[in-house]
Amino acid sequence: HPFKIFFTWSTHVKKNCEEIPNDSLRFNCISFDDLLSQKHDEKVFVDVIGEIVGPCDLKEITVRNAPCKILNLQLKDCGDSIINCVFWEKYAEDIHSYVQSFSGGAIVLLCSLMRINIYNGKLTIQSGKASTKLFINSDITEINEFKETMSKDVMSTTSCGSLLTLSNCTQVSSDHIPFDNRKTISQLLTSYEETRCCIYATICALKIEAPWWYLGCPGCAKKVNPYLNPETEEIEMDKFSCDGCETIVCSTKTRYQVHCKVLDHTGTTSFVMFDREVIQLIHKSAYELLEQQVQFNCGNEFPRELLGLEGREFVFTVNKPETSKNYTPSTLLFDY
Ligand SMILES: [Zn+2]
Repeated sequence: HPFKIFFTWSTHVKKNCEEIPNDSLRFNCISFDDLLSQKHDEKVFVDVIGEIVGPCDLKEITVRNAPCKILNLQLKDCGDSIINCVFWEKYAEDIHSYVQSFSGGAIVLLCSLMRINIYNGKLTIQSGKASTKLFINSDITEINEFKETMSKDVMSTTSCGSLLTLSNCTQVSSDHIPFDNRKTISQLLTSYEETRCCIYATICALKIEAPWWYLGCPGCAKKVNPYLNPETEEIEMDKFSCDGCETIVCSTKTRYQVHCKVLDHTGTTSFVMFDREVIQLIHKSAYELLEQQVQFNCGNEFPRELLGLEGREFVFTVNKPETSKNYTPSTLLFDY
């Protein structure tokens, strides 16, 4: 670092009586793309802000014969760039206890004065010994602005064609969003005609008591059932029956079925998101996410990645069949 502050015989130190000016400029958050391109001077500490994604588990390791707490996590910026971060000791504990007690939604973390570490060509950002300060979902300008950009980001992707579509018809592609037929939730619930429309809504809750994955048929993606051999009257573990294909299948594919409640200004309804939707959002297959849950000993818990979808806005494409008055969208439309 080219600069140093020297205290000489003539330096006066006095208690700070006035507020430090330029309060709004106290952070200088570096863009993730800049960091990842490794153009940055490794000796200069940096400020970063991002949303916590992926697991963040506290581990105890031994460094120079002393026990030491460490926490790895990934931060995502408003785009799709992700950086790996490492937090030590009390920083690790602070983040871990916050995440443990947090009930869902996005966690935005601002870390000031972090060290850049490049090892074997891989970049991580690490907490300093004492320099780092953490702000987790705090009510400060930087975090509030970041959160605003996050929700705008979702809105802007929904209006330029790369859309989340929710539909019971696997042939619908996101290129064919029926923007000309936009409906509110109350209009959807009160109309009895066959329709294809889109709904602008926020995921307000996930049904965490319902399973978020199922074993699907590799052919038609419908849920398979255990196969009961009619002759022996025993369930054969390596075979499954598919009602869709009306056949016995020997392999299955783990697929998403995330039940959620969505809300707009007119009301609420229930949707189920399948592979097409969820993979677009969290960039992981149901199999990968389940493996990850099992690996971190939380196979029975509802994945945090999915809980992170709560509060986010999407455009849902709905194919509504012609129905009687008993029509209930949650089961008729989307239940496999
Ligand atoms: Zn099938």
